[in-house]
Amino acid sequence: MSPVSRIFSCKRCGACCHGHTTVSLNEDDRQRMVRALKMPEEELGKKFWRTTGTTVQMKTVDGHCIFYTDGCTVHEGRPWRCAQWPLHPSILTDEKNLETIAASCPGINKSISYLQFCDILQEILKKH
Ligand code: SF4
Ligand code: SF4
Repeated sequence: MSPVSRIFSCKRCGACCHGHTTVSLNEDDRQRMVRALKMPEEELGKKFWRTTGTTVQMKTVDGHCIFYTDGCTVHEGRPWRCAQWPLHPSILTDEKNLETIAASCPGINKSISYLQFCDILQEILKKH
């Protein structure tokens, strides 16, 4: 069993891809998406991004990210914050952060103690 699967296993519920806003994309995220979709940045931006001042997010459609259709359709090119979710480093600093994340993500393993969870997460984050 991999360290990740000891604390998290995605149930593909789609909850993290729903909402009327999405994570914001930094320059690396934008370039990764350009490469993954093999589309010029300008075209991709017009089609899939919502720009507000200096903030670039993905557009939403019917209350979910434009890339969500029964799963992430831009998996290789998804923003780093999407790839990191739900194993956020803030879990290590406060048990309440784990509780908040676990309340919105059914993939979190709730059957192990907070300390055990943190030990494994720390190991995973060290490698990234
Ligand atoms: S909320 Fe958690 S279990 Fe549901 S799709 Fe997102 S990562 Fe997977
Ligand atoms: S890019 Fe993929 S993982 Fe991120 S919110 Fe959109 S559909 Fe979900």
